[in-house]
Amino acid sequence: MDTDVLIVGAGPTGLMLANQLGRRGVRTLIIDRHAGPSVQTRALGVQARTLEIYAKLGLVNRALELGKRGAGANIWADGRRTAHIPLGEAGRRLTPYPFILILGQDDNERIMGEKLREWGLEVHWSAELMHLQQHADRVMATVKSQEGALREVTAAWVAGCDGARSAVRELNRIPYPGAPYQHVFFVADTVATGTMVADEVNAYLWRDGFHLFFPMRGSDHWRVVGILPHLLRDRAEVTFDDVIPSIRSEAGTGLSFTACSWFSTYRISHRSAARFRDRRCFLLGDAAHIHSPVGAQGMNTGLQDAYNLAWKLALVTSGRADPTLLDSYEVERVPVARRLLNTTDRAFRLVVSDSPVAGVLRTKILAKIAAAAMRREPIQKFAFRTISQIGIHYRESPLSESLGRLPANAPRAGDRFPWLELKLGAGGAKEDFYDKLDDTRFNLVLFGQPAPAADALAFPDLLRVHAIPADRDNDVALTAAGIPMPSYYLLRPDGHVGLCGERYDAATLARYFAARLRLREAIAA
Ligand SMILES: Cc1cc2nc3c(=O)[nH]c(=O)nc-3n(C[C@H](O)[C@H](O)[C@H](O)COP(=O)(O)OP(=O)(O)OC[C@H]3O[C@@H](n4cnc5c(N)ncnc54)[C@H](O)[C@@H]3O)c2cc1C
Repeated sequence: MDTDVLIVGAGPTGLMLANQLGRRGVRTLIIDRHAGPSVQTRALGVQARTLEIYAKLGLVNRALELGKRGAGANIWADGRRTAHIPLGEAGRRLTPYPFILILGQDDNERIMGEKLREWGLEVHWSAELMHLQQHADRVMATVKSQEGALREVTAAWVAGCDGARSAVRELNRIPYPGAPYQHVFFVADTVATGTMVADEVNAYLWRDGFHLFFPMRGSDHWRVVGILPHLLRDRAEVTFDDVIPSIRSEAGTGLSFTACSWFSTYRISHRSAARFRDRRCFLLGDAAHIHSPVGAQGMNTGLQDAYNLAWKLALVTSGRADPTLLDSYEVERVPVARRLLNTTDRAFRLVVSDSPVAGVLRTKILAKIAAAAMRREPIQKFAFRTISQIGIHYRESPLSESLGRLPANAPRAGDRFPWLELKLGAGGAKEDFYDKLDDTRFNLVLFGQPAPAADALAFPDLLRVHAIPADRDNDVALTAAGIPMPSYYLLRPDGHVGLCGERYDAATLARYFAARLRLREAIAA
């Protein structure tokens, strides 16, 4: 076997998977048909959940240094600001990162690519997957070099992170139903002044469409995204100067552009693969699902696909878990992608529809509803949880088991374990509990009960135990998060709750490890 995992594609998804496998010691080979890293920005919005994952990977400070924090979002209609979403306020106490980070896809790829070296990995550029042959115990991949030479690579598993035109998907004949949108998008890097609220995202809804202004590093530097006006849609060559009159006619003279350093147009589709797996091959990121850019979700979703699959592959390739554990990848990630596709598609149709009715709906009714809704804190929090992706859960997964009578508002199995600031030592200060979690292992968190004796613990090398001390400040934080006393939470390496209940007992944990996670030592015990 040349490698345990062959990753096809070194876009954001492939790079995240390579990093997660590398730091877990999995033999990994990552190839990309391009000659070097991409210089296209494309995605721009990095969500809080991705930043939490970056923190575990040791990348978050670099990302925060390079990016610009968007602490709020504004909706404008008919020249007036109709709604303000205070992301910082809405996300406070929910995550250490209550904002959207504006950081180009190229920068995200660069920092993840640099990190690979720490695990002794590097991308093999100019290496294109041409053919795949699946066998019961391995996959034979044919890879073409820049000079046209073909070589065979034998891998136990193949991860198709090869984008919307995925060769892994096509070679496995997995259908990719969906359709292209008829609209043509444009994206422009500009220096502009106008009504935009500085350092925040500004969404302008017009009768004929919309424009989004994303704050970038530098003064008055905005990335503008919108749809091309009808008249320009079929032109072969379009420049930003061609687009300015339509923006001005809607935005009025208050808006002025003094420079445009980059302009590009693109078409997009919405699709979801019929399956995210065929025997030993997996699909992740745009290879598995592609959405409208509304909501800045695409890249972030691919990164989470990788985070979901990596720990499972690590347990299977090390021989510690039965390969059936890998079935949960599809079970957990397909519903996330489908839900996202439906919501982004509905939102997108509303913001781009050309019909006069939709124009009125957009500028009058939608703007008013958004304004009224965003004044209410529970709705602000719901919107933040959804957009930031911290609300994604796997409650229906076979890996999720909630036991006993937990209160209705308590975190349940499948949820991302909430972010908490806790006092972990007597008389100590509050600390970020996420910093204490080891995401290369399972974490058993005990509230209102002592930690089990170290020698009574099965799989000590797979498990970190955290007994949270009784403390008045801790009580306040736990009550706010809905965590009852006594209770225990077993967190999977990706931070989602696997098992939870009232009183911890070793036998329940051993049964969970055997029956749900299919850990071989637990099955044999
Ligand atoms: C204009 C625009 C704006 C966007 N904005 C956002 C945003 O703000 N936030 C967000 O989250 N998402 C956004 N997205 C979506 C985001 O860009 C994609 O979801 C993201 O690039 C997907 O990453 P990926 O790694 O899955 O695929 P890709 O980035 O497409 O990478 C696939 C890689 O596979 C390689 N490859 C392909 N075939 C082969 C082969 N046969 N052999 C070897 N290598 C191969 C390619 O060279 C490429 O490097 C936007 C998209 C567009 C177009």
